[in-house]
Amino acid sequence: MNKTKINLENLGYNDFFESGRKELKLTEYPIARVIAEYKEVYKVRDADGEYLAKITGKQRFMATKREDYPAVGDWIVVEKLSEGNAVIRGILPRKTILKKKYSDKQENQIIATNIDTAFITESMDKDYNLNRFERYLVLAKEGNISPVIILNKIDLISDIELKSKINELKNRFNNINIIPTSIITDQGLNELKNYIIKGKTYCFLGSSGVGKSSLINKLIGKDEIETKEISALTGKGKHTTTTREIYFLENGGIVIDNPGTREVGIANSEIGIENVFDEINSLSQNCKFPDCTHMHEPDCAVLQALEEEKLDKNRYSNYVKLKKESEYYSMTDLERKQKDRKFGKYIKNYQKNS
Ligand code: GDP
Ligand code: ZN
Repeated sequence: MNKTKINLENLGYNDFFESGRKELKLTEYPIARVIAEYKEVYKVRDADGEYLAKITGKQRFMATKREDYPAVGDWIVVEKLSEGNAVIRGILPRKTILKKKYSDKQENQIIATNIDTAFITESMDKDYNLNRFERYLVLAKEGNISPVIILNKIDLISDIELKSKINELKNRFNNINIIPTSIITDQGLNELKNYIIKGKTYCFLGSSGVGKSSLINKLIGKDEIETKEISALTGKGKHTTTTREIYFLENGGIVIDNPGTREVGIANSEIGIENVFDEINSLSQNCKFPDCTHMHEPDCAVLQALEEEKLDKNRYSNYVKLKKESEYYSMTDLERKQKDRKFGKYIKNYQKNS
């Protein structure tokens, strides 16, 4: 193995991308990883350093959807034309895609690609919301990214409270790893560091103020990202400025932290997804059957609200999806395999009939 190869591996390159490169027959060009995206110009990094690369007018002309354009995290094939002038010749097939989904109808937006693990981060202060996890778990699952839950700011609660929060989570989503952390007491930080392995790419998803910047600063070992004070009045933090979009950690792990991974939570709360469970639960008090699934039962208050347009159709459809997902997360592996086949069909039929 030569030195260049080793360095590319530190940027996350592996056999998966190499075989995509061979399939595309683009082996004569060098490769690089997209680390930031500007208007039609991309900052990329390879074994030697960073430079800018453009897409061509033809590529723009041929592109029909967002997926056709490079995104942060992508491995691309570059042709270096002259000093400081590089053109992107192709995007290697993506291993995973993190998309921001506003609703079923709107177009998807790619936040980042080739992320192996998403740290879904919540803080143990008054903003804690169990329902929010569902949303992030769906985004991760749809993108083929494996999720891990981080419970940050555990210094703010008692051990008993933490235990009950963890139990609550395990009941709802078994098979999911949970790492409790605190940047004040340093609890869990070693576990988090040990979780991150060489050549794998990670991101932190979670609402503003949960401590994503603080945790990333701990991982990179310096305060490179500005953290913000949370207002005691609103519970909301001031805007955080990030200087980079990808961090290459000393142990060879890679962390993507771009505006998209930060905004994914904001967009969710804007459309109120995280409260949909509460809305349905309160409606369900009037359902005839206590174990009503709100999908086909007679005298279902939820279906009735839907019919009377008191409950938004998109919100209901998201609820159904999220509920299926959370059931999915609390199943055994065998149950999941069986369900996987049925679930795709179920959603298709549901959409067809609505
Ligand atoms: P981000 O918006 O998710 O990046 O959150 P920040 O990292 O900017 O953190 C928001 C605020 O929470 C800052 O004032 C941090 O100092 C504070 N914070 C972060 N982690 C912890 C923690 O483990 N415990 C406590 N008590 N505060 C924390
Ligand atoms: Zn019902």
